[in-house]
Amino acid sequence: MKNTELAQALQLTPVINVAGTMTYLGSSIVVPEAIEAIQKILPEFVRMEELQRFASGVIAQLTGAEAGFITASCASGISMAVAGCLTQDNLLAIEQLPELSTPKNEVVVQAGHLVSYGAPVEQGIRLTGAKCVRVGYATQCSAYHLRQSINERTAAAVYVVSHHVVDHGQLPLALFCQIAHEQGVPVIVDAASEYDLQRFLADGADIVIYSGHKFLGGPTSGIVAGKKSWVRYAWLQNRGIARGMKAGKESVYGTIAALQAWEKRDHHAIRERENRALTLWMSGLQNLKGIRVSLEADPTGNPLTRCKIETDPVQAKITAWDLSSALAAGKPAVIVRDHQAELGYFYLDPCNLHPEQEHIVLTRIVDELDNAQRAPEPIITDFGQYLLQREQSILRWPD
Ligand SMILES: *Cc1c(COP(=O)(O)O)cnc(C)c1O
Repeated sequence: MKNTELAQALQLTPVINVAGTMTYLGSSIVVPEAIEAIQKILPEFVRMEELQRFASGVIAQLTGAEAGFITASCASGISMAVAGCLTQDNLLAIEQLPELSTPKNEVVVQAGHLVSYGAPVEQGIRLTGAKCVRVGYATQCSAYHLRQSINERTAAAVYVVSHHVVDHGQLPLALFCQIAHEQGVPVIVDAASEYDLQRFLADGADIVIYSGHKFLGGPTSGIVAGKKSWVRYAWLQNRGIARGMKAGKESVYGTIAALQAWEKRDHHAIRERENRALTLWMSGLQNLKGIRVSLEADPTGNPLTRCKIETDPVQAKITAWDLSSALAAGKPAVIVRDHQAELGYFYLDPCNLHPEQEHIVLTRIVDELDNAQRAPEPIITDFGQYLLQREQSILRWPD
């Protein structure tokens, strides 16, 4: 946290985020254009449907969609889009969800896409009253799996683009859309964290949903974009289950401003800055005992490179997960991208750094590795025990 006054007032641990855009860390550094927009609109009255109509125009222009709107989050956008496929514009059916009066209540998803991004994709679908139908197997979904899973009860098909999903054996989006469309089923894409605002609609998706608070640097929000009729059916859910998922005027205008700023952003300069941090880490960590560093491109093709740090627990005298925990326990807390720590590595993601923080990150890692070398015993927590400790800490809140 740059603002130490704020950290003190709220009794917060200062955080340096090298994990990525994570909801549990406050997502991203909100861009100045969005902050300004939020300040401007907060004291005003607006007709929300007019403001959202304006948002629709901006979303259409940037994504190539016919229409769009802003909601509370990508998670809520997924539920709204699915609900829209169930009810279409039947206002009574909208009020009656999650109870469904028609047998058309199935949503097909590839098994390898039924992941958790912090909450299960499947639950976001089932919240609407729909039944989630698993297609294929975790690491293998063929065209026939999808084709034969679609029947007269199928209301929608959901496709997830993310580093969370199984990275092989899945249907490419264009083919997925082709098969769904052959049987008249609309395709909803969860593209929460993807930088490309046009690709998924161009591949045939009917609705795509992005997070406003991730790469865009907007306030907490979700952006729903797509074919006008499906977007309208999703929008109408504000009269039903999406009442509790609403975006206020500040989120709508803040997200519009972030979208407009995205178009003008100097992406090249940002990459240069990220590359400087990566170069610093690569050279500073290169010759440390038991450590191997390399650069790795983002797995879903976002223009983003991360620094991968592999530890050999015998040489380094510490495991990847113990090193990650030690970094997170410090002050400032350095939070690394460690969802694959059991494989012996974690990543440093440079996309949410404030100026100069990359140096603190490097120093903290070098210090922790140094501590491990000098410790009387190697720091090797059994991974199963580590998982149990994490679970206990989740359950302790607010203590
Ligand atoms: C972050 C994420 C979400 C949830 O996004 P929110 O806007 O925080 O609700 C959904 N799907 C994927 C793939 C994500 O990465």
